Amino acid sequence: MSDDWHFDTQAIHAGAAPDPATGARQVPIYQTTAYQFKDADHAARLFNLQEVGYIYSRLTNPTVQALQTRLAALEGGAGAVACSSGHAAQIMALFPLMGPGRNLIASTRLYGGTVTQFSQTIRRFGWSAKFVDLDDLDALREAIDDDTRAIFCESISNPGGYVTDLPAVAEVADAAGIPLIVDNTLATPVLCRPLEMGATLVVHSLTKYLTGNGTVMGGAVIDSGKFDWSASDKFPSLSAEEPAYHGLKFHETFGPAAFTFHSIAIGLRDLGMTLNPQAAHYTLMGTETLGLRMQRHVENAVKVAEWLEADPRVTEVSYAGLKSSPYNDRAQRLYPRGAGAIFNFKVKGGYEACVKLIGALKLFSHVANLGDTRSLAIHSASTTHRQLTPEQLEAAGAPLDAVRLSIGIENVEDIIADLDQALSTATA
Ligand SMILES: *Cc1c(COP(=O)(O)O)cnc(C)c1O
Repeated sequence: MSDDWHFDTQAIHAGAAPDPATGARQVPIYQTTAYQFKDADHAARLFNLQEVGYIYSRLTNPTVQALQTRLAALEGGAGAVACSSGHAAQIMALFPLMGPGRNLIASTRLYGGTVTQFSQTIRRFGWSAKFVDLDDLDALREAIDDDTRAIFCESISNPGGYVTDLPAVAEVADAAGIPLIVDNTLATPVLCRPLEMGATLVVHSLTKYLTGNGTVMGGAVIDSGKFDWSASDKFPSLSAEEPAYHGLKFHETFGPAAFTFHSIAIGLRDLGMTLNPQAAHYTLMGTETLGLRMQRHVENAVKVAEWLEADPRVTEVSYAGLKSSPYNDRAQRLYPRGAGAIFNFKVKGGYEACVKLIGALKLFSHVANLGDTRSLAIHSASTTHRQLTPEQLEAAGAPLDAVRLSIGIENVEDIIADLDQALSTATA
């Protein structure tokens, strides 16, 4: 494996040398919970984190490790930890940073489930989130206080056709001495590499494009390895003595690998949000074709969005890949390979017409998922964003009268023909 290889080569080869025991060319599914120790001394060294190796699959597994190595390579990070879902990854990213009484600043434009996780569930841990419009950098600076431990946003956000100015947000995070965490699920590292724009951590729902065909749940946290956890006393989990490991200090001991080691040795050990090796295998298969798929997803999305925008039955299309979008300039500057393949549009006839349209689609599937090879459609306000208030819906880019499309990699003429017939039914 070479660090010099290009993205599409890493996507196939990173983490996946032939199996040393058998020569198996594809990464085997190591379907095992435990690994035999060489002797008592070897076991003790592994448990003390003095030697890296396999103990128990809640912590590490060779198939999962291959995926972690590949994801770190694709995002240009120092290390990665895979976990059981995208939502698990978000908790895993925050866990080493937060504590009772601490807060994070979150973008108002987020996946609906993330808004609920941050506005409701994390309060049970004594954490809280302040939601800020990240286009207002002054408001962002003002929202940061002594207890703020992170800024969280999505690169391309779901579903409102919004793209974040990551370098500008990263600059604010840097000035405040806190990490920027970017959910890169919708962009994937093909369209955006947040760590190169100043982010510290990237989180993914592997469930979406990374696996690519709607088969398994998974998540990951990728660390840049560049944040100085010891520069202040804000991140004691990483900088101070860890009682569970005889006073070991993660940052001092592991340097750029500190966050990843902590995530495995404490996060997976005690929270148990582990990815299983079968799921890791499916995701490894998916990553091999990621570059090709994203190229087609974006090509199709642009054609479909342009066709919809020109149709008199459609009143609005919110996609940063369209010239008419207020975010088109930013998208061209920061996301030159495309603004993703997920967008909203509004149908003449409002809410009623949206519901009829969804019912009339034949090629599109009506499901609560995105980032599939198949084209998918959903009415966000009544499904994925259902827990949100009307104000939160508008802020999140999921208004009551919009349909969200996740454009697949089918032949684009068939995608457009399906929308054409469904629009006729919806507006008849
Ligand atoms: C789906 C999704 C999540 C949650 O991931 P799961 O794998 O469903 O837990 C988080 N963020 C974004 C942007 C998503 O699309």
